[in-house]
Amino acid sequence: MEPVPNDNGHQDYDIIRWFEEVAENASFVQTQTLRRIIELNFNTEYLKRWLGNIKIQDMESKDLESLYTTLVPLASHADLEPYIQRIADGDSSPILTQEPITKLSLSSGTTEGRQKYAPFTSHSAQTTLQIFRLSAAYRSRVYPIRPRRRILEFIYSSKQFKTKGGLTAATATTHYYASEEFKIKQKQTNSFTCSPKEVISGGDYKQATYCHLLLGLIYFDQVEFITSTFAYSLVHAFTTFEEIWKDICNDIKEGTLNPRITSSSMRNAVLELLLPNPSLASTIEKKCKELEAFQWFSVIPKLWPSGKYVYSIMTGTMLPYLKKLRHYSGDLPIVSADYGSTESWIGVNIDPSFPPENITFAVIPTFSYFEFMPLYRQNPGSTSAIDDFIEAEPVPLSQVTVGQEYEVVLTTFTGLYRYRLGDVVEVAGFYKGTPKLNFICRRKLILCINIDKNTEKDLQLVVERGSQLLRQTRAELVDFTSHADISDQPGHYIIYWEIKGEVDEGVLEQCCTEMDTSFVDYGYVTSRRTNSIGPLELCIVERGTFRKMLDLFVGGGASLSQFKAPRCTSNPTLLKILNVSTIKRFHSTAYE
Ligand code: AMP
Repeated sequence: MEPVPNDNGHQDYDIIRWFEEVAENASFVQTQTLRRIIELNFNTEYLKRWLGNIKIQDMESKDLESLYTTLVPLASHADLEPYIQRIADGDSSPILTQEPITKLSLSSGTTEGRQKYAPFTSHSAQTTLQIFRLSAAYRSRVYPIRPRRRILEFIYSSKQFKTKGGLTAATATTHYYASEEFKIKQKQTNSFTCSPKEVISGGDYKQATYCHLLLGLIYFDQVEFITSTFAYSLVHAFTTFEEIWKDICNDIKEGTLNPRITSSSMRNAVLELLLPNPSLASTIEKKCKELEAFQWFSVIPKLWPSGKYVYSIMTGTMLPYLKKLRHYSGDLPIVSADYGSTESWIGVNIDPSFPPENITFAVIPTFSYFEFMPLYRQNPGSTSAIDDFIEAEPVPLSQVTVGQEYEVVLTTFTGLYRYRLGDVVEVAGFYKGTPKLNFICRRKLILCINIDKNTEKDLQLVVERGSQLLRQTRAELVDFTSHADISDQPGHYIIYWEIKGEVDEGVLEQCCTEMDTSFVDYGYVTSRRTNSIGPLELCIVERGTFRKMLDLFVGGGASLSQFKAPRCTSNPTLLKILNVSTIKRFHSTAYE
């Protein structure tokens, strides 16, 4: 059931044909995938606990599937945490998987506010390689690239550390960049990253960004596309470029490396690739001066004219960065990357030419066993549930319906059984027999004071509406987050904005009121009318505040590659950073 890589130049065709086959038979493939996971891990403590000693070898796969979903309960990360903790502490008995786990991945933690461990095995690296090859094959149908050239990749490893039991813990992308599969991917997709491994794994994202940009410019005529895992890192890289381009030009001219690069391994690896190139430096300098005068519009195609597209995850919580990314990309196509998580890859974007707003992800039925828990929106006014959804029994992939929203539930080769991922997706259609998912949002409610219920997506829409008023100014919204403040009565929402450029206070007052009236949740509107929730507060924070938040996460083991700014926080350290950095406050005058 695995795609067979070969070296005869037909790899793209082969991997797409493989996917077409498994997608066509998705339901059957899923049943077989579950059987394999159970067979591999049947003697583990966790599965024995729920499945007992039944003789699986005598069972039909379909019967095993229904037995599994009847006997094994749905689990949240908190349910599995004690098991994962024992593994982290060095218990090497077969707890979740038969194969001993030697590496743990840290989820970025920026969505939940707390980093979580998930097992990382050779299967994790293999599926990463597989989805990257598959997605590269789909992209090259639309945007063919020249073979044996380069990719300008803004990728970053996190800090690695050892758990009490001696397991290596780092983000999933860090494990992947250190794996054999990462090297193989470069060969099999016939494209090579500009930066050596010492830059990627250097551990300091500021130094790494400088080197990625510098080497990207050295190899400018070989760069076929520009990419990062999440779009935030691309925006971060080019915003940084606006500040450091002169130093980079100087290094290109002299063949030197700026002293800000203090990591000796990074220095040595990069210096080996540099030679003085005054003519390239002066061409870049001339272009940068012109670009600076136009707020760096189209910087990517101007500096990398052979680039075919910009590629990154641009959906979900990355949507707010799209505007800036489009600004930097000019006419260059932007292509939305695939859907996955630290726990498992989920779906591939098979329509690379679609705009990020319309992207769906075709589920890859060999990667994990997927179930989908139907979610129904509450009736307006209902106050009973902990969040906005009523749940129904999970259904297998073959039984999902178009237009319905679901929470994704995973059973993985890495020892997660009926694990609730916490993502809300909508089935947008089918590709052959496999569903195409639209990513909606993280399930967790982020803003909730009493009967109000707002998700990350609700906040995103509200901020989008409020920030539209900035169009009449020369200012732009750089980033945002929020907090439900209940320290005083009545409680109220605070939205923090970092903006670039000058804006009249009157406009910001309007933005604040506009956001307050843009929350359409029935609970919020009712509470605002009765003043059981107070006027929304808009806090403008000084420039660089969100970078300080990034630094805090990176210091705690996150990586820039997987960073997602938390859209709501109650974390005291983050709130302190935000409140200390607040330079202006506005209160909504809606509902007065
Ligand atoms: P993490 O494992 O912590 O780095 O983040 C995984 C989470 O990022 C997923 O559960 C989703 O919420 C989000 N995510 C990953 N890929 C996408 C995508 N293509 N579109 C939208 N959100 C995504």
